[in-house]
Amino acid sequence: MATAFLQCVDESCRRRFPLNASEYRCEACGSLLDVEYEMAAPDRAALLALWQQRKSSTGIEGQSGVWRFREMLPFIAAGRSVVTLAEGNTPLVEAARAGDWAGGVRLTVKHQGANPTGSFKDLGMTACVSQGAILGCGVVACASTGNTSASMSAYAVRAGMKALVFVPAGKITAAKLAQALEFGAMVIEVAGNFDQAFHLLRSFAKELNLYLVNSLNPFRLEGQKTIIFELLERRGWRVPDYIVVPGGNLGNVSAMGKGLCELRRHGFIDKLPRLVVTQAEGANPFCRMLSAGATELTPVADPQTEATAIRIGNPVNWKKALRSIRATDGLCESVSDAETFEAKAALAGDGIGCEPASATTVAGIRKLRKSGTIQAGADVVAILTGNQLKDPESSLLRRSAEELARQRVSVEADAGKLRAALERALK
Ligand SMILES: *Cc1c(COP(=O)(O)O)cnc(C)c1O
Repeated sequence: MATAFLQCVDESCRRRFPLNASEYRCEACGSLLDVEYEMAAPDRAALLALWQQRKSSTGIEGQSGVWRFREMLPFIAAGRSVVTLAEGNTPLVEAARAGDWAGGVRLTVKHQGANPTGSFKDLGMTACVSQGAILGCGVVACASTGNTSASMSAYAVRAGMKALVFVPAGKITAAKLAQALEFGAMVIEVAGNFDQAFHLLRSFAKELNLYLVNSLNPFRLEGQKTIIFELLERRGWRVPDYIVVPGGNLGNVSAMGKGLCELRRHGFIDKLPRLVVTQAEGANPFCRMLSAGATELTPVADPQTEATAIRIGNPVNWKKALRSIRATDGLCESVSDAETFEAKAALAGDGIGCEPASATTVAGIRKLRKSGTIQAGADVVAILTGNQLKDPESSLLRRSAEELARQRVSVEADAGKLRAALERALK
Protein backbone atom coordinates (compact mmCIF):
# COMPACT_ATOMS: atom_id res chain seq x y z
CA MET A 1 0.00 0.00 0.00
CA ALA A 2 1.23 3.46 -0.87
CA THR A 3 0.83 6.55 1.29
CA ALA A 4 0.23 9.78 -0.60
CA PHE A 5 0.70 13.31 0.69
CA LEU A 6 1.41 16.84 -0.52
CA GLN A 7 4.93 18.13 -0.14
CA CYS A 8 6.50 21.56 -0.60
CA VAL A 9 8.77 21.65 -3.65
CA ASP A 10 11.30 23.90 -1.95
CA GLU A 11 14.42 21.85 -1.16
CA SER A 12 15.06 23.65 2.10
CA CYS A 13 11.44 23.36 3.30
CA ARG A 14 9.91 20.06 2.12
CA ARG A 15 6.99 20.39 4.58
CA ARG A 16 4.29 17.78 4.19
CA PHE A 17 0.53 18.32 4.12
CA PRO A 18 -2.43 15.96 3.89
CA LEU A 19 -4.04 15.37 0.48
CA ASN A 20 -7.09 17.40 1.47
CA ALA A 21 -5.12 20.56 2.28
CA SER A 22 -7.19 23.48 1.08
CA GLU A 23 -4.27 25.49 -0.31
CA TYR A 24 -1.98 24.58 -3.16
CA ARG A 25 0.86 26.54 -1.64
CA CYS A 26 3.06 25.66 1.29
CA GLU A 27 1.72 27.56 4.26
CA ALA A 28 5.25 27.90 5.61
CA CYS A 29 7.15 29.23 2.59
CA GLY A 30 4.55 29.82 -0.12
CA SER A 31 6.09 27.44 -2.70
CA LEU A 32 4.04 25.05 -4.78
CA LEU A 33 3.29 21.52 -3.64
CA ASP A 34 3.87 18.12 -5.25
CA VAL A 35 1.87 14.97 -4.74
CA GLU A 36 4.41 12.53 -3.33
CA TYR A 37 4.24 8.92 -2.22
CA GLU A 38 5.81 6.53 0.16
CA MET A 39 5.62 3.16 -1.45
CA ALA A 40 7.49 -0.09 -1.57
CA ALA A 41 9.79 -0.50 -4.58
CA PRO A 42 7.43 -1.71 -7.30
CA ASP A 43 7.78 -5.15 -8.84
CA ARG A 44 8.75 -3.88 -12.28
CA ALA A 45 8.18 -7.01 -14.31
CA ALA A 46 4.75 -7.50 -12.77
CA LEU A 47 3.73 -3.90 -13.43
CA LEU A 48 4.95 -3.94 -17.03
CA ALA A 49 2.91 -7.07 -17.63
CA LEU A 50 -0.15 -5.64 -15.87
CA TRP A 51 -0.04 -2.40 -17.88
CA GLN A 52 0.21 -4.35 -21.13
CA GLN A 53 -2.55 -6.71 -20.14
CA ARG A 54 -4.93 -3.84 -19.33
CA LYS A 55 -4.71 -2.67 -22.93
CA SER A 56 -7.08 -5.42 -23.92
CA SER A 57 -9.50 -4.96 -21.05
CA THR A 58 -12.72 -3.00 -21.35
CA GLY A 59 -12.60 -1.64 -17.80
CA ILE A 60 -11.51 1.91 -17.08
CA GLU A 61 -7.93 0.81 -16.43
CA GLY A 62 -7.93 -0.54 -19.95
CA GLN A 63 -9.59 2.39 -21.66
CA SER A 64 -7.78 5.30 -20.02
CA GLY A 65 -4.11 5.94 -20.71
CA VAL A 66 -3.92 7.64 -17.32
CA TRP A 67 -5.56 5.01 -15.13
CA ARG A 68 -3.82 2.14 -16.91
CA PHE A 69 -0.78 3.34 -14.94
CA ARG A 70 -2.66 3.99 -11.72
CA GLU A 71 -0.07 2.24 -9.57
CA MET A 72 2.16 5.24 -10.34
CA LEU A 73 -0.41 7.77 -9.14
CA PRO A 74 -1.80 6.06 -6.05
CA PHE A 75 -3.33 9.15 -4.47
CA ILE A 76 -6.56 7.45 -5.48
CA ALA A 77 -6.83 4.08 -3.84
CA ALA A 78 -6.89 1.01 -6.06
CA GLY A 79 -10.39 0.14 -7.16
CA ARG A 80 -11.87 3.52 -6.27
CA SER A 81 -13.86 5.05 -9.13
CA VAL A 82 -12.59 8.00 -11.13
CA VAL A 83 -14.03 10.66 -13.43
CA THR A 84 -12.78 9.70 -16.86
CA LEU A 85 -13.50 10.00 -20.57
CA ALA A 86 -11.02 7.32 -21.64
CA GLU A 87 -8.30 9.93 -22.16
CA GLY A 88 -4.73 9.18 -23.21
CA ASN A 89 -3.66 6.26 -25.39
CA THR A 90 -2.63 8.87 -27.94
CA PRO A 91 -0.71 8.00 -31.11
CA LEU A 92 3.07 8.15 -31.45
CA VAL A 93 3.72 8.82 -35.12
CA GLU A 94 6.83 9.28 -37.24
CA ALA A 95 7.09 12.63 -38.97
CA ALA A 96 9.85 12.00 -41.49
CA ARG A 97 9.36 15.07 -43.68
CA ALA A 98 9.06 17.44 -40.75
CA GLY A 99 12.18 15.79 -39.31
CA ASP A 100 14.08 16.53 -42.55
CA TRP A 101 12.71 20.05 -42.58
CA ALA A 102 13.92 20.57 -39.02
CA GLY A 103 17.46 19.77 -40.12
CA GLY A 104 17.65 16.00 -40.27
CA VAL A 105 16.46 14.49 -37.01
CA ARG A 106 14.54 11.27 -36.45
CA LEU A 107 11.30 12.92 -35.43
CA THR A 108 8.26 11.29 -33.91
CA VAL A 109 5.29 13.14 -32.49
CA LYS A 110 3.13 12.15 -29.55
CA HIS A 111 -0.21 13.64 -30.48
CA GLN A 112 -2.14 14.84 -27.48
CA GLY A 113 -4.71 16.39 -29.80
CA ALA A 114 -6.24 12.90 -29.98
CA ASN A 115 -7.64 13.29 -26.47
CA PRO A 116 -11.41 13.52 -25.79
CA THR A 117 -11.55 17.34 -25.77
CA GLY A 118 -8.58 17.73 -28.09
CA SER A 119 -5.64 18.55 -25.82
CA PHE A 120 -3.34 17.04 -23.20
CA LYS A 121 -5.31 18.92 -20.53
CA ASP A 122 -7.64 15.90 -20.36
CA LEU A 123 -4.91 13.78 -18.77
CA GLY A 124 -4.56 16.25 -15.94
CA MET A 125 -8.27 16.91 -15.66
CA THR A 126 -9.26 13.27 -15.08
CA ALA A 127 -6.81 13.21 -12.18
CA CYS A 128 -7.70 16.50 -10.51
CA VAL A 129 -11.46 16.28 -11.01
CA SER A 130 -11.38 12.75 -9.59
CA GLN A 131 -9.61 14.16 -6.54
CA GLY A 132 -12.12 17.03 -6.43
CA ALA A 133 -14.93 14.49 -6.33
CA ILE A 134 -13.28 12.73 -3.39
CA LEU A 135 -12.99 16.08 -1.59
CA GLY A 136 -16.68 16.72 -2.26
CA CYS A 137 -16.18 19.87 -4.37
CA GLY A 138 -19.27 21.50 -5.83
CA VAL A 139 -17.71 24.15 -8.09
CA VAL A 140 -14.51 23.78 -10.11
CA ALA A 141 -12.84 26.82 -11.62
CA CYS A 142 -9.93 27.78 -13.82
CA ALA A 143 -8.41 30.65 -15.70
CA SER A 144 -7.61 29.49 -19.16
CA THR A 145 -6.21 30.29 -22.57
CA GLY A 146 -8.92 27.91 -23.81
CA ASN A 147 -7.98 24.27 -23.58
CA THR A 148 -8.12 24.01 -19.80
CA SER A 149 -11.62 25.46 -19.87
CA ALA A 150 -12.80 23.04 -22.56
CA SER A 151 -11.38 20.09 -20.68
CA MET A 152 -12.47 21.16 -17.22
CA SER A 153 -16.02 21.82 -18.40
CA ALA A 154 -16.30 18.31 -19.83
CA TYR A 155 -14.98 16.53 -16.74
CA ALA A 156 -16.92 18.78 -14.37
CA VAL A 157 -20.29 18.19 -16.02
CA ARG A 158 -19.55 14.48 -16.04
CA ALA A 159 -18.85 14.59 -12.31
CA GLY A 160 -21.96 16.66 -11.61
CA MET A 161 -20.03 19.77 -10.60
CA LYS A 162 -20.54 23.38 -11.64
CA ALA A 163 -17.82 24.82 -13.87
CA LEU A 164 -16.57 28.41 -13.73
CA VAL A 165 -14.13 29.58 -16.37
CA PHE A 166 -12.15 32.85 -16.53
CA VAL A 167 -10.78 33.63 -19.99
CA PRO A 168 -9.01 36.65 -21.47
CA ALA A 169 -11.73 38.32 -23.57
CA GLY A 170 -11.14 37.92 -27.28
CA LYS A 171 -7.95 35.92 -26.77
CA ILE A 172 -9.23 32.39 -26.92
CA THR A 173 -10.28 30.64 -30.10
CA ALA A 174 -13.95 30.28 -30.99
CA ALA A 175 -13.61 26.48 -31.01
CA LYS A 176 -12.41 26.35 -27.41
CA LEU A 177 -15.04 28.79 -26.19
CA ALA A 178 -17.72 26.75 -27.93
CA GLN A 179 -16.57 23.61 -26.14
CA ALA A 180 -16.80 25.17 -22.69
CA LEU A 181 -20.25 26.60 -23.46
CA GLU A 182 -21.54 23.34 -24.87
CA PHE A 183 -20.45 21.52 -21.72
CA GLY A 184 -22.48 24.01 -19.70
CA ALA A 185 -19.77 26.08 -18.05
CA MET A 186 -20.25 29.64 -16.83
CA VAL A 187 -17.70 31.64 -18.83
CA ILE A 188 -16.40 34.93 -17.42
CA GLU A 189 -14.61 36.92 -20.11
CA VAL A 190 -12.12 39.19 -18.37
CA ALA A 191 -11.03 42.30 -20.23
CA GLY A 192 -7.34 41.60 -19.68
CA ASN A 193 -4.77 38.90 -20.39
CA PHE A 194 -4.49 35.37 -19.00
CA ASP A 195 -2.22 36.40 -16.13
CA GLN A 196 -4.70 39.03 -14.98
CA ALA A 197 -7.64 36.62 -15.25
CA PHE A 198 -5.73 34.01 -13.23
CA HIS A 199 -4.76 36.54 -10.58
CA LEU A 200 -8.38 37.68 -10.20
CA LEU A 201 -9.70 34.16 -9.98
CA ARG A 202 -7.18 33.24 -7.31
CA SER A 203 -8.17 36.21 -5.20
CA PHE A 204 -11.75 34.89 -5.08
CA ALA A 205 -11.11 31.18 -4.88
CA LYS A 206 -11.04 30.80 -1.14
CA GLU A 207 -13.96 33.07 -0.33
CA LEU A 208 -16.20 31.30 -2.84
CA ASN A 209 -14.87 27.84 -1.98
CA LEU A 210 -13.82 27.12 -5.56
CA TYR A 211 -11.75 24.08 -6.45
CA LEU A 212 -9.01 25.43 -8.72
CA VAL A 213 -7.82 23.18 -11.50
CA ASN A 214 -5.12 25.34 -13.03
CA SER A 215 -1.80 23.57 -13.18
CA LEU A 216 -0.87 24.82 -9.73
CA ASN A 217 -3.20 21.99 -8.72
CA PRO A 218 -0.63 19.23 -8.20
CA PHE A 219 -3.11 16.42 -8.91
CA ARG A 220 -3.33 17.63 -12.49
CA LEU A 221 0.37 17.11 -13.00
CA GLU A 222 0.04 13.54 -11.74
CA GLY A 223 -2.28 12.78 -14.63
CA GLN A 224 -0.08 14.56 -17.14
CA LYS A 225 3.05 12.65 -16.17
CA THR A 226 1.52 9.55 -17.77
CA ILE A 227 2.32 11.07 -21.20
CA ILE A 228 5.86 9.93 -20.45
CA PHE A 229 4.82 6.45 -19.31
CA GLU A 230 2.81 5.89 -22.46
CA LEU A 231 5.48 7.28 -24.72
CA LEU A 232 8.29 5.18 -23.25
CA GLU A 233 6.20 2.04 -23.03
CA ARG A 234 5.36 2.38 -26.73
CA ARG A 235 9.09 2.68 -27.46
CA GLY A 236 9.89 -0.47 -25.48
CA TRP A 237 11.34 1.83 -22.75
CA ARG A 238 14.05 3.08 -25.12
CA VAL A 239 14.73 6.64 -24.05
CA PRO A 240 14.97 9.22 -26.88
CA ASP A 241 17.70 11.87 -26.98
CA TYR A 242 15.23 14.74 -26.62
CA ILE A 243 11.59 15.29 -25.68
CA VAL A 244 10.31 18.69 -26.75
CA VAL A 245 7.23 20.34 -25.29
CA PRO A 246 5.73 23.85 -25.56
CA GLY A 247 5.72 25.88 -22.36
CA GLY A 248 2.96 28.24 -21.22
CA ASN A 249 2.18 27.94 -17.54
CA LEU A 250 4.92 25.24 -17.52
CA GLY A 251 2.79 22.52 -15.95
CA ASN A 252 3.40 19.96 -18.65
CA VAL A 253 7.18 20.12 -18.59
CA SER A 254 7.00 19.93 -14.79
CA ALA A 255 4.80 16.84 -14.95
CA MET A 256 6.99 15.19 -17.55
CA GLY A 257 10.16 15.80 -15.56
CA LYS A 258 8.51 14.33 -12.47
CA GLY A 259 7.37 11.28 -14.42
CA LEU A 260 10.84 10.72 -15.84
CA CYS A 261 12.53 10.98 -12.46
CA GLU A 262 10.06 8.55 -10.92
CA LEU A 263 10.63 6.03 -13.70
CA ARG A 264 14.35 6.23 -13.17
CA ARG A 265 14.05 6.01 -9.40
CA HIS A 266 12.02 2.82 -9.74
CA GLY A 267 14.39 1.34 -12.31
CA PHE A 268 12.15 1.42 -15.41
CA ILE A 269 14.79 3.44 -17.26
CA ASP A 270 18.44 4.08 -16.49
CA LYS A 271 18.96 7.39 -18.25
CA LEU A 272 16.91 10.49 -18.96
CA PRO A 273 16.21 12.29 -22.23
CA ARG A 274 16.95 16.00 -22.36
CA LEU A 275 13.70 17.95 -21.95
CA VAL A 276 13.34 20.94 -24.22
CA VAL A 277 10.76 23.67 -23.59
CA THR A 278 9.73 25.84 -26.51
CA GLN A 279 8.14 29.24 -26.02
CA ALA A 280 6.92 31.99 -28.32
CA GLU A 281 9.36 34.89 -28.57
CA GLY A 282 6.75 37.33 -27.26
CA ALA A 283 5.87 35.16 -24.24
CA ASN A 284 9.17 33.59 -23.20
CA PRO A 285 9.92 34.45 -19.57
CA PHE A 286 11.28 30.96 -18.86
CA CYS A 287 13.72 31.01 -21.78
CA ARG A 288 14.90 34.44 -20.70
CA MET A 289 15.45 33.27 -17.18
CA LEU A 290 17.48 30.24 -18.27
CA SER A 291 19.60 32.13 -20.76
CA ALA A 292 20.35 34.83 -18.18
CA GLY A 293 21.24 32.16 -15.63
CA ALA A 294 18.82 33.91 -13.26
CA THR A 295 17.41 32.20 -10.19
CA GLU A 296 14.09 34.05 -10.24
CA LEU A 297 11.63 34.43 -13.07
CA THR A 298 10.86 37.93 -14.31
CA PRO A 299 7.35 37.97 -15.79
CA VAL A 300 6.69 39.31 -19.27
CA ALA A 301 4.13 42.05 -18.61
CA ASP A 302 2.38 42.04 -21.97
CA PRO A 303 2.82 38.60 -23.59
CA GLN A 304 2.21 38.49 -27.32
CA THR A 305 1.89 35.57 -29.71
CA GLU A 306 -0.65 34.14 -32.10
CA ALA A 307 -0.13 30.80 -30.36
CA THR A 308 -2.84 31.68 -27.86
CA ALA A 309 -2.45 28.51 -25.78
CA ILE A 310 0.97 29.69 -24.60
CA ARG A 311 0.32 33.39 -24.36
CA ILE A 312 1.33 33.53 -20.71
CA GLY A 313 3.77 35.98 -19.16
CA ASN A 314 3.91 34.82 -15.54
CA PRO A 315 4.02 30.99 -15.48
CA VAL A 316 2.98 29.65 -12.10
CA ASN A 317 5.04 26.46 -12.38
CA TRP A 318 8.43 27.94 -13.19
CA LYS A 319 10.14 26.47 -10.11
CA LYS A 320 8.93 22.97 -10.89
CA ALA A 321 9.87 23.47 -14.53
CA LEU A 322 13.35 24.55 -13.54
CA ARG A 323 13.67 21.37 -11.50
CA SER A 324 12.72 19.34 -14.61
CA ILE A 325 15.27 21.20 -16.73
CA ARG A 326 18.02 20.72 -14.18
CA ALA A 327 17.24 17.04 -13.66
CA THR A 328 17.35 16.27 -17.37
CA ASP A 329 20.10 18.66 -18.50
CA GLY A 330 17.31 20.31 -20.42
CA LEU A 331 17.00 23.58 -22.27
CA CYS A 332 14.61 26.19 -23.59
CA GLU A 333 14.28 27.77 -27.04
CA SER A 334 12.11 30.67 -28.21
CA VAL A 335 10.66 30.88 -31.69
CA SER A 336 8.91 33.60 -33.65
CA ASP A 337 5.32 33.13 -34.77
CA ALA A 338 6.56 33.07 -38.38
CA GLU A 339 8.85 30.13 -37.52
CA THR A 340 5.98 28.42 -35.73
CA PHE A 341 3.70 28.63 -38.74
CA GLU A 342 6.46 27.31 -41.01
CA ALA A 343 6.82 24.35 -38.67
CA LYS A 344 3.07 23.84 -38.67
CA ALA A 345 3.17 23.70 -42.48
CA ALA A 346 6.07 21.21 -42.34
CA LEU A 347 4.05 18.92 -40.06
CA ALA A 348 1.07 19.27 -42.37
CA GLY A 349 3.33 17.81 -45.07
CA ASP A 350 3.34 14.59 -43.06
CA GLY A 351 -0.44 14.71 -42.73
CA ILE A 352 -0.15 15.86 -39.14
CA GLY A 353 -2.21 18.84 -37.98
CA CYS A 354 -1.93 20.58 -34.63
CA GLU A 355 -2.60 23.92 -33.08
CA PRO A 356 0.02 26.68 -33.32
CA ALA A 357 1.39 26.28 -29.77
CA SER A 358 2.18 22.64 -30.54
CA ALA A 359 4.16 23.55 -33.66
CA THR A 360 6.60 25.64 -31.62
CA THR A 361 8.23 22.29 -30.78
CA VAL A 362 9.25 21.57 -34.36
CA ALA A 363 10.25 25.19 -34.93
CA GLY A 364 12.44 24.95 -31.83
CA ILE A 365 14.02 21.69 -32.96
CA ARG A 366 14.97 23.34 -36.25
CA LYS A 367 16.62 26.24 -34.46
CA LEU A 368 18.52 23.92 -32.15
CA ARG A 369 19.70 21.88 -35.14
CA LYS A 370 20.89 25.06 -36.84
CA SER A 371 22.85 26.14 -33.79
CA GLY A 372 24.34 22.63 -33.52
CA THR A 373 22.83 21.97 -30.08
CA ILE A 374 20.84 19.03 -31.42
CA GLN A 375 23.01 16.77 -33.58
CA ALA A 376 21.95 15.43 -36.99
CA GLY A 377 20.14 12.11 -36.74
CA ALA A 378 19.13 12.69 -33.12
CA ASP A 379 16.16 10.72 -31.82
CA VAL A 380 13.61 13.43 -30.96
CA VAL A 381 10.02 13.23 -29.75
CA ALA A 382 7.81 16.32 -30.01
CA ILE A 383 4.73 16.53 -27.80
CA LEU A 384 1.95 18.01 -29.92
CA THR A 385 -0.28 19.43 -27.25
CA GLY A 386 -3.49 20.32 -29.10
CA ASN A 387 -5.70 19.39 -32.03
CA GLN A 388 -5.59 21.12 -35.42
CA LEU A 389 -9.32 21.91 -35.20
CA LYS A 390 -8.82 24.02 -32.09
CA ASP A 391 -7.63 26.94 -34.18
CA PRO A 392 -8.45 26.61 -37.87
CA GLU A 393 -8.60 30.38 -38.41
CA SER A 394 -4.88 30.72 -37.81
CA SER A 395 -4.08 28.11 -40.47
CA LEU A 396 -6.24 29.88 -43.03
CA LEU A 397 -4.97 33.35 -42.25
CA ARG A 398 -1.39 32.19 -42.55
CA ARG A 399 -1.71 30.84 -46.07
CA SER A 400 -0.68 33.31 -48.73
CA ALA A 401 -3.22 34.65 -51.20
CA GLU A 402 -1.39 32.79 -54.00
CA GLU A 403 -1.47 29.48 -52.14
CA LEU A 404 -5.15 29.86 -51.41
CA ALA A 405 -5.90 30.83 -54.99
CA ARG A 406 -4.11 27.68 -56.17
CA GLN A 407 -5.92 25.41 -53.75
CA ARG A 408 -9.42 26.82 -53.67
CA VAL A 409 -11.38 26.75 -56.87
CA SER A 410 -14.94 28.02 -57.13
CA VAL A 411 -16.99 26.93 -60.10
CA GLU A 412 -20.55 27.11 -61.24
CA ALA A 413 -22.41 23.79 -61.31
CA ASP A 414 -21.61 23.31 -64.95
CA ALA A 415 -19.60 20.38 -66.35
CA GLY A 416 -17.87 22.40 -69.06
CA LYS A 417 -16.70 25.12 -66.66
CA LEU A 418 -15.66 22.48 -64.15
CA ARG A 419 -13.55 20.68 -66.77
CA ALA A 420 -11.77 23.91 -67.69
CA ALA A 421 -11.12 24.72 -64.04
CA LEU A 422 -9.80 21.23 -63.32
CA GLU A 423 -7.51 21.31 -66.33
CA ARG A 424 -6.07 24.57 -65.03
CA ALA A 425 -5.79 23.28 -61.47
CA LEU A 426 -4.08 20.00 -62.35
CA LYS A 427 -1.58 21.54 -64.77
C1 LIG B 1 -2.02 24.44 -22.07
C2 LIG B 1 -1.34 24.30 -23.38
C3 LIG B 1 0.05 24.48 -23.52
C4 LIG B 1 0.92 24.93 -22.39
O1 LIG B 1 1.08 23.96 -21.40
P1 LIG B 1 1.62 24.37 -19.96
O2 LIG B 1 1.49 23.17 -19.14
O3 LIG B 1 0.75 25.50 -19.48
O4 LIG B 1 3.03 24.83 -20.15
C5 LIG B 1 0.61 24.25 -24.75
N1 LIG B 1 -0.13 23.89 -25.82
C6 LIG B 1 -1.45 23.72 -25.71
C7 LIG B 1 -2.21 23.34 -26.93
C8 LIG B 1 -2.11 23.92 -24.50
O5 LIG B 1 -3.42 23.76 -24.43
